[in-house]
Amino acid sequence: MSRVRLPAGFAGVDLPDSWPRPRLRPDPELLGQPVESLPGVGPTAARRLARLGLRTVADLLAHRPRRYEQPVERRAISELFGDGEAVIEGTVQQGASGRRRGRLHILTARVGDDSGSIRVTWFNQPWLEQKLLPGTRVRLRGRPNRHGFAVESYDLGSASATADFAPVYPATEELSQKQLRTFAESALAFARAGGDPLPAELRAAEGLPLAADALVAVHRPRSLEEAEVGRRRLAFDELLTLQLALARQAAAREAAFASPLPPPGHLLDRYREALPFTLTSAQERAIAQIDGDLAAETPMQRLLQGDVGSGKTVVALYALLRAVEAGRQAALMAPTETLAEQHFATIGSLCSELGVRVALLTSSLRAKEHALVRQLVASGDVQIAVGTHALIQKEVAFRDLAVAVVDEQHRFGVEQRALLVEGRSPHVLHMTATPIPRTLALTVYGDLAVSEIDAPPADRVPVVTAWVTEDRSSVAYERLCRHLVAGRQAYVVCPLIEASETTLARAAEDEAERLRVSELRGFRVGCVHGRLPAAERREVMARFKAGELDVLVATTVIEVGVDVPNATIMIVQEADRFGLAQLHQLRGRVGRGAEQSYCLLVSRAKEELTESAQERLEALVATTDGFELAERDLEIRGEGHLLGARQSGLTDLRFTKLRQDRDLLARAREVAQALPGDGLLAAAVDRLLGGSEHLGES
Ligand code: ADP
Ligand code: MG
Repeated sequence: MSRVRLPAGFAGVDLPDSWPRPRLRPDPELLGQPVESLPGVGPTAARRLARLGLRTVADLLAHRPRRYEQPVERRAISELFGDGEAVIEGTVQQGASGRRRGRLHILTARVGDDSGSIRVTWFNQPWLEQKLLPGTRVRLRGRPNRHGFAVESYDLGSASATADFAPVYPATEELSQKQLRTFAESALAFARAGGDPLPAELRAAEGLPLAADALVAVHRPRSLEEAEVGRRRLAFDELLTLQLALARQAAAREAAFASPLPPPGHLLDRYREALPFTLTSAQERAIAQIDGDLAAETPMQRLLQGDVGSGKTVVALYALLRAVEAGRQAALMAPTETLAEQHFATIGSLCSELGVRVALLTSSLRAKEHALVRQLVASGDVQIAVGTHALIQKEVAFRDLAVAVVDEQHRFGVEQRALLVEGRSPHVLHMTATPIPRTLALTVYGDLAVSEIDAPPADRVPVVTAWVTEDRSSVAYERLCRHLVAGRQAYVVCPLIEASETTLARAAEDEAERLRVSELRGFRVGCVHGRLPAAERREVMARFKAGELDVLVATTVIEVGVDVPNATIMIVQEADRFGLAQLHQLRGRVGRGAEQSYCLLVSRAKEELTESAQERLEALVATTDGFELAERDLEIRGEGHLLGARQSGLTDLRFTKLRQDRDLLARAREVAQALPGDGLLAAAVDRLLGGSEHLGES
């Protein structure tokens, strides 16, 4: 493996004005500093960084570039030709002037070098107008076109954005590459503060560079090879930490004891009869696997994974009823109140048919009711309790909990420890609707048994997805109205804006009001958002389910769990603002019946979209297969972001490219077995396992 050298500057440009100051003594606390502590990061930038999940200096260091710029040749202005990418250097000759065309801001300036001059344009960067004064030196990377030269990246004074192999980070449109590069550069000053988690002998034996050098190589490489060597070193750390964590978990689980349940009987026969459909073979297979687990003395630790709409809830309820049949209790834990309410609505009606007592426990219950429900759970009168993870873990004492279903929570098991009763652990079924590529599942759920519902109920027709830009949104609404006229129902999802829940809520209400008098005039339009009091929210959802509302205008609160098979069309406004996994979840709200369903993604104009936003929308149009989308998401965003903030075991994989790094994974497994679990690595394992307590709400 080639060695990583400290950089001596970018190929082709001058040395930077200053080097990061070396930190001699590792001080991991420095890495935990908020991003605001870095020069140039104010409250606004900090808020925008937080939207990318970047809150600390360490987060910035772990923000892996999605790719690097290819080196391009510097050209004299008179020698620009064609439309190939090029770099030019010169000075501003005439001050810049800006104008607007729709929402596009266009800034032009004349730039000249020894050979000539050219008209240069910047898009959507109005603030540059004041900086591009005559005489300012600029280095510009971009493409010639018939109007002059369109800038892709630029440097005023020193060069880092236009350098060869400049990093291209996962960005948002409110945070430019330029800003991210500057922030990452500042964070690099602390690269040494983390110390090196790998023991020196191991590092030498594996031929790996120092962690700090690897970070520098990733963020400021002089060649693509150097960047890759750095990335693999950091990926090795991650995989090793993960393997050590899995080993620790597995050991804890093997020591735990659960009481086995007697085989399924009459209640479950009645359950099957009560269902309005027959179970698919994938569902039957999962059920048989669960039955096997419940007969054992070690607690069940099973992951039930299946795409949105594949029919996991029916299987989950089966597991819950197994506990009830044995005269014991069960819990269903959801990540949000809305989802808990939805689950309650779904299983509640089936359970009352079966004479099973179910209670919903949410923080929006009045104190008195809350206390009453807790008491009924403690006495065993409530057979199935439904609530949020946080609530059930912290506040409820079960008389005899036998089975817990954990929905959409990452798996590292706080819940298990919290629910331990007199040395007995409950059997736990983890459910995820966020598909995890098979390649990942094995690694990350290495010690969990996995049941997969790999095929949807046979009557399903894949949702047809189309992407249109705003100027054609009226076509989308016309189509939506045709569904309504035919007696179907619809969702309209409001844009995901950077704002407080309250602002979002107001925007949703305004939009519902606007639609009532315009595109959707004459239809019954309801609105749900996160600020609606729980009782009202439940009522709106119930009216929609009962067909008393034609359209539900909503924020992403409907992302999970909402199940109305008569809803056959969805419009997502400003779809480019959503993540791929999120759009997939949203789309899962339609296509839940036998009817052909549609998902219409309306985005802003193409010029306004980031590269990755376009890729996301294209991917959604191309496939409805959640596994395939998850793989695409990996490619577009990097592994770490696969599951968003929800599942943190994976959010810690920042540098790993699992499909590419199989050899590293195998090596990490071997090394983990021989490694003493102490030092910085052990601390990393603690962080990985302990991080879960902060999560759960989304
Ligand atoms: P998931 O939780 O996996 O997203 P659900 O369990 O909510 O999916 O099921 C989606 C829809 O499919 C529900 O309306 C459910 O009643 C229905 N469903 C589940 N299993 C079957 C089946 N075997 N045949 C037909 N419909 C089914
Ligand atoms: Mg579901």
